[in-house]
Amino acid sequence: MSPMRRYLPVFHDVLGASVLVVGAGAVGTRKIEALLAGGARVTVVAKEFSPAVVERSARGDLAVLRGTFHPDQLEDAELVFAATPDRALNRRVSVEARRRRIPVNVADSPEECTFLLPAVVRGEEFTAAISTGGRYPGAAKAMREFLEAHRAEISVRLERGRRRKRITAKQGKVYIVGAGPGDPDLLTVRALGLLRSADAVVHDYLVPAEILSLAPAKAARICFARRGKTAGHGAVMKQNAIHKAMVRLAREGKSVVRLKSGDPLVFGRGGEEAEHLSREGIPFEIVPGITAAMGCAAAAAIPLTHRGRSSSVTFVAGHETDEKGGSAVAWSLLPKDGTLAIYMGVGRVAAIADDLAGAEFLPDTPFAIVENGNRPEQRVVRGILSDLSRIALDSGIRSPAILFVGRTAALSPYQRTEETSDEFAAQGV
Ligand code: SAH
Repeated sequence: MSPMRRYLPVFHDVLGASVLVVGAGAVGTRKIEALLAGGARVTVVAKEFSPAVVERSARGDLAVLRGTFHPDQLEDAELVFAATPDRALNRRVSVEARRRRIPVNVADSPEECTFLLPAVVRGEEFTAAISTGGRYPGAAKAMREFLEAHRAEISVRLERGRRRKRITAKQGKVYIVGAGPGDPDLLTVRALGLLRSADAVVHDYLVPAEILSLAPAKAARICFARRGKTAGHGAVMKQNAIHKAMVRLAREGKSVVRLKSGDPLVFGRGGEEAEHLSREGIPFEIVPGITAAMGCAAAAAIPLTHRGRSSSVTFVAGHETDEKGGSAVAWSLLPKDGTLAIYMGVGRVAAIADDLAGAEFLPDTPFAIVENGNRPEQRVVRGILSDLSRIALDSGIRSPAILFVGRTAALSPYQRTEETSDEFAAQGV
């Protein structure tokens, strides 16, 4: 028989219970606080009391008996704790309590206990208790830490459990979640928790496999946009198909994670999807992510704002076109003394260079392109606007890539393409 089998895990209701604690040092005080938090009526016997206990006593939260333990003090007790530094005294308390069939706990002495205190993780609506029978406190602590680290996931599961109980016709929920720029370490804790307990994941092609693999193996994975297409380029039909799939899965009672690269509300159609879900009466929640501008700026050490160089940052869609096929962006209205972060611009980089020149951005304005930011294949190329289309072409920049324009771009310590090309020129390449 496993030595743990003899312990029946129970949760003892101490509300209004009369509890005797012998000892009021650090260990005793911890137990006293836990008991008071549960609403127990606590009597403390000790020769000396910790300041916390003195304060509690002055407030009338507990009764104190100054002096030595006497078995008569057990008369009313429903539970007893011994937590003095005196092992012989602790043993006496235990023997006297057991003689009276009162459950007793002796700190750090499992053999003198009739009940043990587990390592505890508490949430608002749950308590997890872990014990190794007092034999491996380090192991219990490690498990507690594990649970602490998975708190977000636990709360998601609890939420689902509650819903299951409350609603007979199961209703699911859609979480519109930002996956960040690609590195799984840049997911939020909330995103990770949701992903780990998802029933279905509807994702963009830009979300890498390492992130998708965090969802349970049995979760359905659905991707609508084709690889090689920049998110946002998809036809209206595709967006409709995504809307339909999310609604259908949620109506099946599933927890659906709509996973988008970066942040769902930055060039991610998160707003359209939220509108649609709300029209269909499907509960949803939006979980932010690190948008490409921020992830790539950090990866290439480009400050988005910088004292004396840039006091604004503007997120711009490089590919958006108006009805006539021109750019939908009013380039001339963009601040020239700030940083521009231009998304989805790779396919139109020559046109963007013209747009910027037309908007009177100076030819020597620095730029930096970050391709595959925050991923192992990351590349950064830098230069000045007059060389933008040549450099982008020469270095074969491909999607996904983001273009930073502004004096901050020159602060990146990464590769300076104009130096490289000068070198090539010097070598006659
Ligand atoms: N919602 C996303 C943007 C989607 S639009 C976000 O908040 O980041 C897709 C564009 O984002 C790409 O064309 C590219 O400009 C940019 N992008 C996304 N991931 C990127 C990455 N890892 N490196 C560079 N740019 C990226």
